[in-house]
This record gives sequence, structure tokens and C-alpha cells, in this order.
Amino acid sequence: MLKIKGIDSYYGESRIISSLDLEFEKGKITCLIGRNGVGKSTTLKSIMGLVKTPEGNICFDGDEIIKIPTYNRVKQGIGYVPQGREIFPQMTVYENLMLGIWANGGKGELPKYIYELFPILKRFEKRKGGDLSGGQQQQLAIARALVSEPKILILDEPTEGIQPSVIQDIGEVIKKINKEMGLTVLIVEQYLDFVLGISDYLYIMEKGEIILKGNTAQ
Ligand code: ATP
Ligand code: MG
Repeated sequence: MLKIKGIDSYYGESRIISSLDLEFEKGKITCLIGRNGVGKSTTLKSIMGLVKTPEGNICFDGDEIIKIPTYNRVKQGIGYVPQGREIFPQMTVYENLMLGIWANGGKGELPKYIYELFPILKRFEKRKGGDLSGGQQQQLAIARALVSEPKILILDEPTEGIQPSVIQDIGEVIKKINKEMGLTVLIVEQYLDFVLGISDYLYIMEKGEIILKGNTAQ
């Protein structure tokens, strides 16, 4: 469903990724792990069109997406949560969520499943985003990516800076999204327990290359 074939990715003149091949199977949870600075986030940014990728192909549902601008990739069904919880602290929880619709030119309502998946966001609907705890902000960031009803959800370190008890909640929500909505999920993650608890497939990355792929489904 999402296939990366032979991409090179650059920041300015420095090549971070070379000839990278990756595949993400439809309806499955795939995790990408590796040490700091090996190029995990850059891989995700390449999928989103946020870095220069002069070589290679990225195919999503059979379409070549490499030349499509980022906002159109979202319209095509790719939901992306960058590393570091990008929420709008001065806006309410509701407004933060609605941005996922307004940003795509829509006037619609929040899909019903958002508050079913994240009851805490319903409870704090009128609260400012910046007044939520770190774990709640992470839930808000994930929920906002789901508002546009994507076919694939891409999460960059969803557990970063979050305490273990909340990490479990986030894992449960991700599993639920995958099982009940059939959403394909791609996660970059450092926390191995979390990865082994939720993934079907695992890739290990080292300096811009994949060194191992495994099937982790129990
Ligand atoms: P982490 O686990 O710390 O998040 P990562 O695997 O996600 O690491 P990347 O963020 O993809 O790593 O970074 C890969 C390399 O690219 C690093 O050497 C980093 O310093 C460099 N890099 C990242 N962002 C930029 C940028 N905007 N400009 C120049 N170099 C960058
Ligand atoms: Mg990163």
C-alpha cells in the first residue's frame, strides 16, 4: 500500500538517506526503530514531502506521490503526527481538532469516532490545548491527524516524554484505530516494550539504511 523505492533524501547538500527501500502493508502496524540521528524522522518527512528527495519513488495506493505537495498528501489519505506534539496551545481542544478539517478547506463536523476513541478530549473540549498534560496533548495531536479520515496514520515517536502508564493508553488507542477502523499505521519509536506490544512488523534502521526487518505479530 505504501512503498518507498530507492529514495535519497537531503537537507541542503547533506544526504541523510540513500537508496532506501521500505514497504508498509495495508491494515498492519509497522514500527521503525533505531538510534538517535539515524534518519527515522527524515524517512517520515520524505513520505510527507518535507525534505528534498531527488531520487526514487514513493507509491501510495498505486499513486506516485513524490511530486505532490504535503497538503495534498494529507488529502490523499495520509495522516501525519510529527515528532514533538505540534498542537496550538492558545486554541481550545475543539479548535485544535477542527483545524484538521478547516486546514483541508472543509466545513464539516468532527467524525463521531474522535471522541469515542479519546474521551478525555471530549471532557476537556473547551480547555486550551496548552493546559493539557503531555500525554493528553499527544492524544490531541493523534486525534487531529485522524480528523481528516486518513487511510494511513504516521506517528513520529508518540511516546516521547510520556510516562509509562499513559504510554499504555496511547498503545491501546493505536491498536483500536488499527483493528476497528482498519487503518494502516506506521510508527517511529524508541521504546521497545511499546513497539513489541503493538507492532505486526518491525524495521531497524542504521545510518539511513534498513538493517533488519522482522515479523513481530504474536
Ligand atoms: P531521533 O531519534 O533523535 O529523533 P532520527 O533518527 O529521527 O533521530 P533525523 O531527525 O531523521 O534522526 O536526523 C537524521 C540526521 O539528519 C541527523 O544527523 C540530523 O542531525 C540531521 N538533520 C535533521 N534535521 C535536519 C535539518 N533540518 N537540517 C539539517 N540536518 C538535519
Ligand atoms: Mg526523530
